[in-house]
Amino acid sequence: MKTITLKRGKEDSLLRFHPWVFSGAIATLPDGLEEGETVTVAAADGTCLGTGHYEIGSIAVRMLSWREEETGKEFYAERLANAWQLRRRLGLVRPDNSTFRLVHGEGDFLPGCVVDVYGNTAVLQAHSPGMHYARNMIAQALTELPGAGIRNVYYKSETTLPFKARLDPVNDYIIGGFETNIAEENGLKFNIDWLKGQKTGFFVDQRDNRALIETYSKGARVLNMFCYTGGFSVYAMRGGATLVHSVDSSAKAVALTDANIELNFPGDQRHTSFAQDAFKYLQEMPESAYDLIILDPPAFAKHRGAIKNAMVGYRRINAAAFRKIAPGGILATFSCSQAISKEQFRLAVFTAAAQSGRKVRIIHQLTQGADHPVSIYHPEGEYLKGLILHVE
Ligand code: SAH
Repeated sequence: MKTITLKRGKEDSLLRFHPWVFSGAIATLPDGLEEGETVTVAAADGTCLGTGHYEIGSIAVRMLSWREEETGKEFYAERLANAWQLRRRLGLVRPDNSTFRLVHGEGDFLPGCVVDVYGNTAVLQAHSPGMHYARNMIAQALTELPGAGIRNVYYKSETTLPFKARLDPVNDYIIGGFETNIAEENGLKFNIDWLKGQKTGFFVDQRDNRALIETYSKGARVLNMFCYTGGFSVYAMRGGATLVHSVDSSAKAVALTDANIELNFPGDQRHTSFAQDAFKYLQEMPESAYDLIILDPPAFAKHRGAIKNAMVGYRRINAAAFRKIAPGGILATFSCSQAISKEQFRLAVFTAAAQSGRKVRIIHQLTQGADHPVSIYHPEGEYLKGLILHVE
């Protein structure tokens, strides 16, 4: 294995287990080093700090281990077994729940790797060249995980790998093929479209929050804005909502929502969906039409440069919801932008509340599900922020 040597004093963050080496910290790159190679990282005095995947860019190494370690199939198998044990411990592996995130990058000590499980299919997503090269080993190890029953591994990295690395990944099955795309979450069925859907096909991170919304749905008129697959809508229906409106600007998303409602509540007239722009819908909807509003928009800020516009976006949608929600209503509002902090998001929501002049209380502060663990040394892994608010 080749060794990357750091500049003097640049080993501190690694000694605190932060899993990234930034390019500015590097003193020397070994000759002939290729992007995606597994390397050891050494302090200026030669002490080995660990093993990681090298890539070209601001993050130059993603650390896999805190010692020199071979990263063959056994390595991945062990990390996956560890991740699997945690999901079992979390109570997510049940006959009525076959949908969960098995690998959450740094949070499962596999930086650059995401695996979502939908029944007997695992969707594998690489975010680094190193993980792209490891994909076959990971796929094999996934199907060999004792008790997991994973038979199909779909590789989906066309949009997540750095474009400049010219890896030209193709979205396709590495092992097995299409069997069924129906998976269960807390006893509810979902069609998961990993072939054409966003991300790995489903937003697994909202599971606990959807379950919480179910408990507030009894007798409520619900608006699920940015519905995508209709996750929140299906839970609200089971929770006893009297009416559920799902809105998404994508006609495909609306079709997915309709299919998922039909799968769980065939012929149920309480649900209607609309393919419409959120800003327009919120602007035009009548006052007091809804008792429960869910706002779960896409990441308005995909990078730091977009923070200002994103803050305006969050403020606008929340202001409209505060203005229109029925008295005594519940607003569940989210941000999945990694670049927006918890405090910034709360400021945007606070500003929107103040503009509406309504009395607003925070009743829950939410984040991603426990199958999206955050390494305490890598707080960047926490990205989902949510507030459930009571509006008088
Ligand atoms: N709440 C969903 C995930 C939402 S993802 C869940 O629990 O699974 C964000 C969704 O917002 C996408 O489906 C996208 O099509 C939709 N979207 C993006 N911009 C929009 C806009 N301006 N108006 C309405 N929907 C929009």
